[in-house]
This record gives sequence, C-alpha cells and structure tokens, in this order.
Amino acid sequence: MNEPVRELPFQQFIVKLHSRCNLSCDYCYVYHHVDQSWRDRPKVMSRRTIAAVGARIGEHAETHRLEEVFVVLHGGEPLLAGPAVIEDMVNGIRGSVPAGTSVDVTLQTNGTLVDHRFADVFARHDIGVGISVDGGREANDRHRRFANGHPSFALVQRGIARLRAAGDQWTGLLCTVDLDNDPLTTYEDLLALHPPQIDLLLPLANWVHPPAGHGGTAYADWLIPIFDRWFSAPRRQTGVRLFESIISMLLGGSSDTEAVGLNSARAITIETDGQLEATDALKTTAPGLGATGLSVHRHTLDDAMRHPRVLDMHRTLGRLPAECQSCPIVDICGGGQTSHRYGNDGSFAHRSVYCADLDKLIRHINDRVRSDLKLAA
Ligand code: SF4
Repeated sequence: MNEPVRELPFQQFIVKLHSRCNLSCDYCYVYHHVDQSWRDRPKVMSRRTIAAVGARIGEHAETHRLEEVFVVLHGGEPLLAGPAVIEDMVNGIRGSVPAGTSVDVTLQTNGTLVDHRFADVFARHDIGVGISVDGGREANDRHRRFANGHPSFALVQRGIARLRAAGDQWTGLLCTVDLDNDPLTTYEDLLALHPPQIDLLLPLANWVHPPAGHGGTAYADWLIPIFDRWFSAPRRQTGVRLFESIISMLLGGSSDTEAVGLNSARAITIETDGQLEATDALKTTAPGLGATGLSVHRHTLDDAMRHPRVLDMHRTLGRLPAECQSCPIVDICGGGQTSHRYGNDGSFAHRSVYCADLDKLIRHINDRVRSDLKLAA
C-alpha cells in the first residue's frame, strides 16, 4: 500500500458554488453523513474566491501545459448561487487559462430550479448539465424530498423539459442504486426521460458504514438485469457509464468512471470558501478526512497535487491491498471506488465493501461480451 505514487497534475476541478441545498435527500453525503463541515462554510462562493479559483486553475493549466481541463460546477445545489455566479465562474476560468487550453464545463444539479434564465446561461456558455434523479416518481420521491417532506419528482421533470426545450446541454441522469426500487422499473422510468446517458452509482458506503443489504451480492443482482436489458436492446437507447467503462476495459480500453478501473484520480474539490479537498466521497468516511488544510487563497494547486490525502486517491496496482493485487479481475475492478475501501483501522487498505458485487457484475458482463463476440466471429 505504501508504494510511492507519482504526482500528477489535476485535470478535473469540482467547484462548489453553493454549500446548501433546497432538497433534503435522506441519503445525502453532504448533510446526512459523518462530515458536517458544510455548516462552517459560506453559503455561496464569494467574488474574491471565484477570482482566486479561476487564477489557480489558469496557473495550473499553464504550469503543466494542459490541453484540456474539466470543470464540474457542484454544490449543495449550485443553481442556488444564481445565474450570475455561474457566469462569473465560467468566465473567470476560461479567461485565466492559456490560449491552448480548452475548458469543458458541466454542472450537476437536482434539476428542480432549472428555468429559462439558467437554460440561457448553459447554452451561452456551453455548460453541460447532469441531473440527479433516482428513477420514476415513486422511486425518486422515496428519498429525494424537500425538508418539509414535499416530493421533488414533478419539479425535476419540469427542469428536464426546460433543458431539452432550450437546446442540447443536457448530458444525462445520475441515479443512486436503491435496493428498495425494482431495477427494471427504475431503468424503464429513467429511459422514459430520454437521457443521453445514465450514471448508476453505488451508494456511498464503506466497511465502517456498510450499505443497506450488505453481505451478499444484492447490488450486482440489482444491476445485472439492467445490464442485460441495456445490452440486449435492439438499438442503443442510452449510455450507461458503468457498463460502458467495464466493457471498454474488457476490450483493452479505459474507464470513464471512478467506480471501476485502475485510474489515478486527477480531481480536486474546491469548497465555497476556497478550501481544497481530496474528494467529496471521503465525507462518508470520517469527519475531515478529505481535508487538505490548503486553500486557493494561500496555496497553488501544485501544493494540493503533492498532498498525502490527494496521493491516497491514486489507484495504482501497487497501492491496493494484497487481496486486490492477487485478484484475477483487478485490472477491471481496480478495487472499486477508493472511499468504498475505507475500514475500521482508518485506512483504505481493504478491498471494496462492494467486492462481491463488483466481482459478480464484472464476470457477468465479461461472459456476455465474450459470448456475443464469439457469435459475431
Ligand atoms: S473484486 Fe474485490 S478483491 Fe478484486 S479488485 Fe475488486 S475489490 Fe479487490
């Protein structure tokens, strides 16, 4: 686990424009997990911090001659910051990077606040928009509710309709797996929203806080029917990032998600006060575990790149636990998402809490892909 790791420049910058949310989803890692640092942060990123974020990303792009950087505007709920803050942030970053660096901007929202003002900003600044939803009305509203208990699905549907009407900025849906929802019903309900892509996320959990239903392969058993439905469709109806990444790696390609694969995380999270955090997912492990103590107001992104907590997020074979290193599917699984390997000893030197699920899902996809290739030969 202690193999030295190469410092790599960041490619992805997750920028928290607002630290609060208008929803109060009961599983939310920001507000309902062990790390409560959001309470001490400014609600909205200030103009001073926006300027510092832009300058630091520009400096980093210049130092490392980055051809492309990926910016994810995040929260809380980033739309609570308002359209002007979003515009300022995007202009600040694009205005600071060198001429040879392109800036790809996406925004992750719960979708309930999308109106024509935001749709206009997204189109003018070419901001891709991802929307979080857990399925159809019943599935979504099981957890994704306002603090007063009101459901959110109807507002999300309205937000998606506004986005689709305004142009081509919608990038897809992000859906957290909930074993209480029927998998195929969930998938069909998501498909009915016509997403260009679906991200199916395993709930943030670890060995200290295991997921609901942990102990068997309930998550693989939930995902496999969706894979079979998706893979067997006579024509491609949408992309499913997890499945596509596994297939890509089985065929010698790479992963497009931190959920699987031996990827070195090249992302840094910037909080509303400018503090730099290794990754948001660590908020589900122990209070303050993702904190670096660094800030865009006092430190460069190169300082963050060298921070031990950031280096912990790199997934190379030599830093995985012995049981993963000797696992026959480690090249595909990569030990799963790093935060899922957090254990009672306070380290990440464990296989994923979803190990049995990842093993079953990857083997299933491998068998389906190989048998299809044989048929096609
Ligand atoms: S399947 Fe389990 S043992 Fe194998 S790499 Fe993944 S987490 Fe590690």
